[in-house]
Formats: sequence, C-alpha cells, structure tokens
Amino acid sequence: MMFEEDEEYFDFENKSELPEELDFKHLKPCPYCEKPIPEDSISCLYCGNSLPLSTKKPAWMAWILVFLVICTILLAVF
Ligand SMILES: [Zn+2]
Repeated sequence: MMFEEDEEYFDFENKSELPEELDFKHLKPCPYCEKPIPEDSISCLYCGNSLPLSTKKPAWMAWILVFLVICTILLAVF
C-alpha cells in the first residue's frame, strides 16, 4: 500500500518537470558556438554571449498582427 502511494507521488513529480522538457523542443543554434539553446533565451547557456533578438517572431506577435488585419478589414467594410 505504501509503495503505491509513493509511485503516485513520483508520477506527479515527473509531470511537474514536463514543461521544462517542452521548452527544449524549441531550440536554435547559438550564433557563436553553434550549440542548441532554447529559442527564447537572451544569452547562450554554453558560451555566455548575449544573443540578438530572435529573428523569428513569437506566436503572440503573429496573433496581434492577425487581429490588427481583421480590425482594419472590419473598419474598411463599415
Ligand atoms: Zn554559445
């Protein structure tokens, strides 16, 4: 009985670590040392160089652009 409770506890621990693993799916090569680092990092984890802003726009910016385009179309229609 005690072991079952322990296993559930450890399952919960593993789930809490999942978001960190998901972050590592979005990797980009460091422009200085070419090692894989998270896309949204502002400095390299390996060589410590600060990175220029990502050329790839974040998802929220794309949605804001879509929203602005829709607003513009609606304003033009009315
Ligand atoms: Zn680097």
